[in-house]
Amino acid sequence: MRRIKLVLSLFTFMNLLLAQPETTTNPGPPNPLLCSAGQLEIIDFNGEKAFKVVVGLPITIRGMHSPLENPYSWQLGHGDLTHFAPYWPLSPPPLALTGQTTIPTSALPVNNSDFGETHGIIKLSSNANATTLSTKKVQVFFNKDEYNIHDNSVPNWFYYWKQIINLKLISQLLFDPQLEDYGSTDPLNRITKISQQASENNDETDDDGIHAFFETIEHENHHNVIWDEIWPNGYDPALDTDNDFYRDYWEDLSSAGIAYGFHSNDNSDEYGNEFGSGYMYEEDNCRNLEHLISSIKTLYDLEDWSYDPNLIYQGKQWK
Ligand SMILES: [Zn+2]
Repeated sequence: MRRIKLVLSLFTFMNLLLAQPETTTNPGPPNPLLCSAGQLEIIDFNGEKAFKVVVGLPITIRGMHSPLENPYSWQLGHGDLTHFAPYWPLSPPPLALTGQTTIPTSALPVNNSDFGETHGIIKLSSNANATTLSTKKVQVFFNKDEYNIHDNSVPNWFYYWKQIINLKLISQLLFDPQLEDYGSTDPLNRITKISQQASENNDETDDDGIHAFFETIEHENHHNVIWDEIWPNGYDPALDTDNDFYRDYWEDLSSAGIAYGFHSNDNSDEYGNEFGSGYMYEEDNCRNLEHLISSIKTLYDLEDWSYDPNLIYQGKQWK
C-alpha cells in the first residue's frame, strides 16, 4: 500500500515538472519585419518652449523610428491607442519624422477649457501601422492680443478670460478699445467696459496680465457694491436733491459722506465735478480693494493659456 502511494505521488510530481514549461512558454519575439510600437518615439513637439505650442505659430516636431516607414502621421488630440480622437488640426499635415507644422488660427476653439492639456496627447503613426502616444502632454496656448475669430471685435484675452472670471454684480462685460482707462462701470445698468490696459499692467498694484484683469474686474464690480450700499432700496431721484447719484441722507450724515466733503444740496460737493467727492470716495475704496485682493490674484492662473509674443504681459501657464 505504502509503495504504491509513493509511486503515484512521484508520478504526479513528474507530471507537474513536465507540464510547467508548457504553461510558461514564451510566444517568442514578434516577426522582426513588423514594427512594434516601442520602436517609434516622440522626441519633440515644441513651440518656443518644450511641449508648449501656440495656435497660429510654428511647431517643431521630431520623432525617432527604426527602420524608416514613411509616410508618418502626427495627430494632436485626446484618448488612448485604441480610442484616439484628433482635436487640433495640423497644417501642413506632417508626413515625416522631423519638420515644422502649425495649428491654424481657424482652429481656435469657442471654449477656454479646450486650451492647455485638454487635447494635448500626440499620436505618431507610421505607414506600417506602428503607433505610439506621447508620454508628455502638450499645452496649447492662444496669441493674447490677436482679435478672436468667433468675435472679431475683441482680442483673444478678452474672449477667453471673460469665460472664467467671476463677474459678480456686473451684468455685462464689454471691450472698448477707445476707453482711456482700465474700465468704467454704469451701476444703473451694471454694464462694465474695459480696455486693452486691463490685460497689461495695473499701475495701482504693478500686477500684470490676467492679474491686472482680475483686479480691474474686482475694482469695477466694487462700484456696484458701493452703489448698493448708498441705494439699498434702489435709486430714487426724490432722495437725490443735487442729482449726483448719491443719496442726500448719505451725503450729509454718513461718516464717509462727511469725510469726503459731500453736500446733498451741491452737485459739485467740496471739490468740483470731474474729480469731486464721488470720484475720490469711490476710487479710494475700489483701489484699496485691489491691494486687498492682490493676495489672491493667482486665482485664475491655472486657466490662463494666453501667450504674449512680445514677452511683456506673459500668460501665467507659459512661464
Ligand atoms: Zn473706478
